[in-house]
Amino acid sequence: MAYIRLDSQAFFHNLTAIQNTLSHTPHPPKLALVLKDNAYGHGLQQIAPLAKSFGIESVFVKNYEEAISIAQLFDTITALYGEIPPNAPSNIWASIPSLQALQSCATAHKNAHQMRHIELKVNIGMHRNGIAINELDRALSLLENSRHIRLAGVLGHNGYGDNDNESFFTAIQAFSDVREKVRKWCEARNYPMPRFHSLSTSGALRLGLHNARSDDLGDVVRIGIGAYGYHTSELPLHIALKPIASLYAQKISSLHLKKGDRIGYGGVSVVEKDGVFSTYDVGYGDGLFRVGAEQSLCCASGEQILPVMSMDCFSCQSQREEICVFDDVSAWARAFHTIPYMILTHLSPALKRVVV
Ligand SMILES: *Cc1c(COP(=O)(O)O)cnc(C)c1O
Repeated sequence: MAYIRLDSQAFFHNLTAIQNTLSHTPHPPKLALVLKDNAYGHGLQQIAPLAKSFGIESVFVKNYEEAISIAQLFDTITALYGEIPPNAPSNIWASIPSLQALQSCATAHKNAHQMRHIELKVNIGMHRNGIAINELDRALSLLENSRHIRLAGVLGHNGYGDNDNESFFTAIQAFSDVREKVRKWCEARNYPMPRFHSLSTSGALRLGLHNARSDDLGDVVRIGIGAYGYHTSELPLHIALKPIASLYAQKISSLHLKKGDRIGYGGVSVVEKDGVFSTYDVGYGDGLFRVGAEQSLCCASGEQILPVMSMDCFSCQSQREEICVFDDVSAWARAFHTIPYMILTHLSPALKRVVV
């Protein structure tokens, strides 16, 4: 059976390398790991324990279902989307993207036996999720009057970390204004200070490598793609990250084919020289993108993946019993005009994951 191999040393290497770029300030931010969408397709149940063994205390997941499945492992688990039931463990925090969501969270937890920690999401320029900056006062006064919910974090999402333009710095300034406002509000009321964070991989590396102020880095940085060994910044970032996932497939069968023979649906691939061709047990049904005549992709050992890929197998000129389909998805992302995130998150949760 095909399987995904997860290289724990590469994972620790990435986290250490990222941590090192942030260590120049007196109060470096803590690394929080983003584990949403099945740990970017790598496998939540495999990556979460590795993260814990590295010393990660805070993580971000997609929703409550992901959060509850790893609730024993971390101090805090923030569900980026959806609601948290009132009886959920108290280390599962809710990310609140609107005033309306804040209101309904307060209502839902009114009669709960425990405090629900929330992180308020503020729109700092991406104009996607989050309350508007001019709604902040209303949100804070709602919080002041809700005894069962506690403001534990304030987050923004700087959507310009990858891009070499001014908007990145505009968003940093916007978040800095939000932070000052919330700080003053908390100090005036003796309210426990929440944590502040707005940076994902590319933004954190960019500021970290340029020795930014600790305030701008925040109390934590939310590291996703970098931990898995990639970044998509259009700026050069001097850091060596290692992809941690590789995909292996097993041989199903082999055939001796002659020049002119055609392989697969529609006979798209034509044999140029007599030889042995084999099929391997992974295809687009396992979440790979369907390799067609427009893509030229090779296995890690160099054999071309012959178009067109089938649902559960692909062909190539090889006799290996086992083949490494990829050990880096960058070429796949380029071939399909997309980003590594998309190739990775599509990997089927049904594929076996093996941590080495
Ligand atoms: C996905 C996500 C991240 C992580 O982004 P990377 O580019 O993978 O580091 C950080 N914050 C939020 C809110 C996210 O949704």
